[in-house]
Amino acid sequence: MQLTEQFRQANGILEQIQSFGYEAYFVGGCVRDLLLHRNIGDIDIATSARPDVIQQIFNKVIPVGMEHGTVIVRHKHQSYEVTTFRVDDDYADQRHPDSVQFVKTIDQDLMRRDFTINALAMDKTGIIIDLFNGKEDIRKRVIRTVGDGYERFTEDPLRIMRALRFSSQLGFSLDEQTLKAIQSVISELKSIAVERILQETAKFFAGPHIEEGMNYFQMINLDRHLPVFKDNPGIMKQLPDQLKPLRSFGAVIAMFHFAAPAITIDTWTKQWKCSNKIKFEAESFIKALNDYKHDGLGPWLVYGLHITGYSDFASLVNMLFDDRLSEQTVYKMANNLPIHSKRELAINGTDIRWLFPDRQPGPWIGGALKQIEKQVVTGYLSNNKNVLKEWVKWNQHATG
Ligand code: ATP
Ligand code: MG
Repeated sequence: MQLTEQFRQANGILEQIQSFGYEAYFVGGCVRDLLLHRNIGDIDIATSARPDVIQQIFNKVIPVGMEHGTVIVRHKHQSYEVTTFRVDDDYADQRHPDSVQFVKTIDQDLMRRDFTINALAMDKTGIIIDLFNGKEDIRKRVIRTVGDGYERFTEDPLRIMRALRFSSQLGFSLDEQTLKAIQSVISELKSIAVERILQETAKFFAGPHIEEGMNYFQMINLDRHLPVFKDNPGIMKQLPDQLKPLRSFGAVIAMFHFAAPAITIDTWTKQWKCSNKIKFEAESFIKALNDYKHDGLGPWLVYGLHITGYSDFASLVNMLFDDRLSEQTVYKMANNLPIHSKRELAINGTDIRWLFPDRQPGPWIGGALKQIEKQVVTGYLSNNKNVLKEWVKWNQHATG
């Protein structure tokens, strides 16, 4: 395989490790994505050297998961995960492997991997090690477990979620045996920490082939095994006719909440153990969707969206309303806003206090600023200190 520039840059790491007498390969998703001509996220490296050896070989090493054999090596301003050949030691309790065992060969390391398409390794010259016909499965666009599906999914039921997210990310179909195994092991998902399920579910909904992924989701009745879904059997009927990828899980929650408002955002975020960031995103998408429903797209709505949310917002509108809204339209409106954050306002809290020296400072100052912000964003007032001061003076009553 012809190496791309990204791999050539990383080659220095393989060479350095090899110069000390150890083996090193590119491995996993990056090799798969190279063969698929997809954008490559992270380049991961597998090596026979132990983590402490890697720490000695390289100057800049961040010990992120020494107990699992993983360190991050900084090389030419990029970060690479370097993981010692290993097998997962103890899957008896079906949780995240607590202990791992280092092994001698790349073959053993590839054997522990979930799917044939992810069990590829490549050396510095571009020669690919393919023990399980992963290349052919990539060509056939099939997701197939390494080894017996029943065993592999029982060992780690999270792989069920991973199979679905790869189908949504890559548009691949599930091999028949793999699908059967998923169907017989699916109830074991209950043993998996919700945080791990969330990570894969978020990638699932963000996949460009979400429609295909959703076919499998429904085929295996995954909803019966996921938080919130399992207590609300009607929720899948509320799905929009045509799904679009959503990059943030906050947008996913917003989609379901908008379609089934009886299930609160709080319920979603608590049961899925979401971060505050996801919760905040969900709330701001819902607010924007409600504004859109009443007044259409306006500057105040766009101002309230985070830039990373423009495409998700457009997708949500397209799914939930019969409207066509492009991401570009949102961007254009955002670019034309007079200000993009409160910090850009020509007036601040201190200015307002000076205008009313006799009034006690209090929440009214924030209230006044909020009103001014809205007037400026919507173009009723220009963002000029004197103009804004005058407005506050003449609208004292409005500032409470
Ligand atoms: P992405 O591009 O989305 O990161 P990826 O294939 O790199 O996809 P990761 O979750 O980053 O996926 O995992 C890296 C590699 O580790 C996988 O390609 C696979 O070989 C292996 N792997 C990850 N999770 C598991 C698991 N639960 N069971 C077995 N192998 C796994
Ligand atoms: Mg990865």
